[in-house]
Amino acid sequence: MQVIHEIEEARHWVRTAQQQGQRVGVVPTMGALHAGHLSLVHAARQSCDAVAVTIFVNPTQFAPHEDLQRYPRTLKEDLQLLGDQAQMVFTPTPEQMYPPGFSTSVDPPSVARDLEGVARPHHFRGVATVVLKLLQILPAERAFFGQKDFQQLCVVQQMVRDLDVPVEIVPCPTLRDPDGLAMSSRNRYLSGQQRESALGLIRALRHTAERVASGQRCVAVLESEMQGVLAQHGIERIDYATVRDRTTLQPLVNVTGAAIALIAAHVGTTRLIDNWLLEVG
Ligand code: AMP
Repeated sequence: MQVIHEIEEARHWVRTAQQQGQRVGVVPTMGALHAGHLSLVHAARQSCDAVAVTIFVNPTQFAPHEDLQRYPRTLKEDLQLLGDQAQMVFTPTPEQMYPPGFSTSVDPPSVARDLEGVARPHHFRGVATVVLKLLQILPAERAFFGQKDFQQLCVVQQMVRDLDVPVEIVPCPTLRDPDGLAMSSRNRYLSGQQRESALGLIRALRHTAERVASGQRCVAVLESEMQGVLAQHGIERIDYATVRDRTTLQPLVNVTGAAIALIAAHVGTTRLIDNWLLEVG
């Protein structure tokens, strides 16, 4: 596996692979890799000939009060974990990505406005900009994104459509620990007791899926019950616990078609997000 820090070298690597007839897949990450990230790498290997993983803790998607400084940076372990599963890792510095004078950004699509967009107002501008930059640096045929960050996936898909970026975005399912907690680099912040509380997210989501499966369609009822499950787990600070249309992420009165339950909540000082696809009968 080749580790590349320079932008031009990374682009050259992709072009060379493509000239050799290889289909290139890219997996953008912020590092602190876990099995969830590896499942994206695995999906990339399944449908591509060469896989590039990017590891970059993007400062522009963090607000000043957020966890940019303490976000885990574990490059050595990440490279070990990847082993020979990726052919290339691109890990630039913030100065390379944002040199002096940098001043352009992507105005994210409307699907970015609500939910995370309310809780983290500048987040998706930072995400959309860095993803577009990474796709320019690594002009891969396919890019793999997790459904764990469902709104991010929607934002990236819409941006790629709107700006005619010649890449196929491949959504990948959320990997979970055996107890159901969605794997996340931020889980390492949780104490044993907080981890127990954090299970409130998946339990609230599963409760919602079960209620929908057994006929409950009223979103107000579903949302109130989600709050209840979170409260039972001692989770009081909830940014949102909601059922939305799966395509637009707009609010619903009743669940009639493809929907999604989404939660963002704080456990101690750690903000966690999770979601669950809801199927109607
Ligand atoms: P991050 O490093 O948190 O920016 O995540 C990089 C990519 O991995 C994103 O596309 C995430 O949606 C995806 N990802 C993070 N956690 C998981 C998980 N538990 N299962 C599947 N994909 C994940």
